[in-house]
Order: sequence, then structure tokens, then C-alpha cells
Amino acid sequence: MSYAVIIDCYTDEPSGLGVPPYLSVHSRYIAGVLKNQNIKYYYLTIDDLRYANGEDHFDNSYNKRIINKTKNANNVVNILKNAINIYVVMGCFVKYEYVSAEPPTFAEVENLLNIFCSKKTNKLLFYSLGGSELTRENIKRTVPSDLFNETIFGNTYNYFLGETIHKFKPNYDKLRQIAIDSSSVLQQIDRPVIIEIETATGCNRNPGCTFCIEGMRGLPLQFREKEDIIDEIKSLYDSGASYFRLGRQPNFYAYKNCDTKEIEALFKGIWSACPNIKTLHIDNVSPHNVNTYEGEKITKIVAKYTTSGNITPFGIESFDPIVREKCNLNGSLEDIHKSITIINKYGKGRGQNGLPKLLPGINIIYGLDGQNENTLKHNLENLKKILNSGNLVRRVFVRKLTSPYGEQFDNYNDEDLKEFNTWSKTIEKDFIVPMLKKVFPIGLEISDLRMEMYKDGNSILRQMGTCPVRVVILNKKLKLDEFYKVKVVGYIGNRTIIGDII
Ligand code: SF4
Repeated sequence: MSYAVIIDCYTDEPSGLGVPPYLSVHSRYIAGVLKNQNIKYYYLTIDDLRYANGEDHFDNSYNKRIINKTKNANNVVNILKNAINIYVVMGCFVKYEYVSAEPPTFAEVENLLNIFCSKKTNKLLFYSLGGSELTRENIKRTVPSDLFNETIFGNTYNYFLGETIHKFKPNYDKLRQIAIDSSSVLQQIDRPVIIEIETATGCNRNPGCTFCIEGMRGLPLQFREKEDIIDEIKSLYDSGASYFRLGRQPNFYAYKNCDTKEIEALFKGIWSACPNIKTLHIDNVSPHNVNTYEGEKITKIVAKYTTSGNITPFGIESFDPIVREKCNLNGSLEDIHKSITIINKYGKGRGQNGLPKLLPGINIIYGLDGQNENTLKHNLENLKKILNSGNLVRRVFVRKLTSPYGEQFDNYNDEDLKEFNTWSKTIEKDFIVPMLKKVFPIGLEISDLRMEMYKDGNSILRQMGTCPVRVVILNKKLKLDEFYKVKVVGYIGNRTIIGDII
């Protein structure tokens, strides 16, 4: 019987995550469309191929290059040898050190495909980035020549629907059934995953921020119907999924033009269909939609209907007024501070798993247009103001401005990199660690921590949710994927604390 193979090489976009433990919409939608069209398929990860190629774990560490194997891991050679079509899914915007996964380079994919696949097998690359025609041309130049029959940008399902012109444009009518059918992929995965759920495409600001990939795609704002989202989650839930993030959109608060009734109905519908969900989180929020009448109401709803440990990650990017104006960043400084207070007002209380219900997250970017010798000072002054306000922030992410082609196209000189290092270290010392100690005080008990990684003789645990803190259990090898409760006993640094099992 003929069949297709999806090889998940993981994706990490500004609005949408697909690096384990996250499962991206891209691979899942391919699974859904194949199921929808009655085409048998196998789902593999790049880890399966590495494992089939002889990679193994180490004595005192798990090998994160093979830890995300699927149920098909022991049958990779046969599966790939007899496949009719192979669909490779890739696209990581930043080069990030993930806790328990390692996305491959093009060179590695080329090597492994050449080992396991016939030259004649039809191979397609689905590359999730590629904002404009220019970026697509640049990306194509880095793809190994003669490896793929085609490189496809945009929504994966559009390819199967025969869409050739508007590949990035969502087809939410057709996506409805595809998303429901995508739950079939879970039969081939045996480790717990957090499922990224799409609610919208496009930005509700026009013009948007100057550097943004979403703006570059130039798509009008489009929302999925809540019934479609609920039915999709129900189908995944019935197939065993328990962890969800409404993360595939640039700004969750903009859903249905900030319609509080629609947002509440969405959450109510999800809980009524799936009462035992363990994680329901969101991602990506613009502060200019929080410091408003509707924004405050939405915050109350999100804090009420999502599970503890949730975050509203704010794309603040810079507190420097010059940079903000030059890059047309969203919201004023006043909006940002007030938004942080609003989120704290409704979300600061701790839930069952020990974490505050809902807290803001802050993203800071180095290298934006207009950056000057005072930019770091502005950032630190404002972060200090937040620290002294009594408000809490769950996480800060400082990164370099990335080329819209992805980080591999960046061109920073040594001096820039040194300066970026200074930024990261100063923000970590002056804000991140002092805030970490407030959110995770010594003695705090945290539950639902999954044993995710064993490294250098220590176990690393995280909750199955958005931007979780890393809890290190020193000198112990715990059982992979088991859940534990711990007490906070110390701090290592950025996003990392030390715990004792209780
Ligand atoms: S608010 Fe700015 S960063 Fe966010 S999606 Fe719109 S343009 Fe992009």
C-alpha cells in the first residue's frame, strides 16, 4: 500500500512553536489533510532518523538529539525506503538552546535523507518561514540543491488543496476538517506533547512594527471560528491530548477584534467539551490591547479560564522612546506599565500547581533601528520600575534582532556580540534573577513538573506549559516523563532554579 511520510524537523516562528515538547500546526495539518484525503501516512521526527543512524544516549546525560523519537523509531529504514512522498517540515527563526530537542541544519537533513531515502522518492520541503518573495529567494539559496523536488512556503495544507498563488492566505473553511482530522497523528506519538492551536493570522496594527515577519507577510487579520477551534481541541483531546496552547496568532487579545463575549465563549466551549484538560495557555499579546476597557475584561477572562502558570508575552522589544518611535512599536510606555499592572491585578494569585495564574512576559530585542548608547539604560530603568512596583513578571526573553530570513542570515560583528552579551548579563543580574526569586521564593512548592531531561548527572523538570521555568534536581536520575512535586531550594540563573523532590 502506498503511503506518505512526514518528517518533523521542528519549527520555531515568532507566532507559533513546534519544537518538542510542542507539536507545530505545520506537521499536524499535513497529517490532517492526508487523513482527510484517505492517504496513509507515517509521522517521524528527525530524532527517529538520528536514532536509526546509530545515535544513542550518553552515560550521564540523555542525548536530546534522539529523545523525541516516535512510535515508528524502530521501523525508520523500511518506512523511508518504501515511501511515495516525503514531506519535511522545517523553519526555526532563532538559533536557541532548547532543553530537550535540537532542530537540525539543512546539512544534517541532507545527510540523513541521502542515507535513508532513494534519490527517486519525491521529497518536498515545507519551510515555515519566508515572509516575502525576497526572503523566500534567500532561503531557497541555502537549501541543498537537488535534495528536494520542491520548497514550499506558507500554510502546509494550502499545498494539498492545490492553492498555488495565495499560499500564506489561510483557508479557514477548509482548515476546519483538516484540523479535526489532524488528531490522527497522535496515534504515532508516545511522549506527551503541548499542542499549538491556531486562532488567527495577521496583525491588528496597520502599519505594524517595522521589523515584523507577520507584517511582511501582509496578510489581513483573519480569525478562526470558535466552533472550529473547539471541535479541533475536542478531537485532539479525545485522542489523548491534555496540554494545549492557543499560541498560533500574533496577538491573542485581538481575537474577533477584542470581542470579550467571543473570547469567553471560546474558553467556555473548550472546557465544556474537554473538562479534564491539564494545560490551557495562550501566547503573544500586544500591550496596546491590554490597557483598554476590553483589554481589562479579556485579562479577567483569560485569568479565569486558563490554567495556572499562564503568561501574556508582551512584544515590548525596547523601552527606549527613540527606538519605539522609529520601529513603530506597539503601545506607549504608559500602556506597557499599565498592562503589566492589569495582568497582575487578575493573574498574580497562585493556582493549584503553585504558580501565579497569569503573569506578563517581556521580550527585549537588541539591534533595533534607532538603538543608541542610552537604550540599555532606558531598558534597565523601566525594568527597575517594574521590579519596585510590586508587580510580577514570569519571564524575560532578550534576543538579537533576527533577519526575516532567520538567524542564520544575521551578520553581527564581534563588537555587537560583545555588547549583546553585556545587555543579556546586565538584564539577567538586575532584573531576571531578582524577579525569579519573587515568583519562585525559597520553599515554594510546585507540582505537575515533568521529568524532561537528564544532563550531567542532574534531572531537569519543567511544567507542560508556556515558557516554563527549569527545575534542576541535582545528582538524581528521575524517570523520563514522570510527573513530580518539588520544593524550591535555590537558583541557578535565567529561568533555572534548584528543587528538591517532595
Ligand atoms: S504588533 Fe508588531 S510585532 Fe506584533 S504582529 Fe503586529 S507588527 Fe508584528
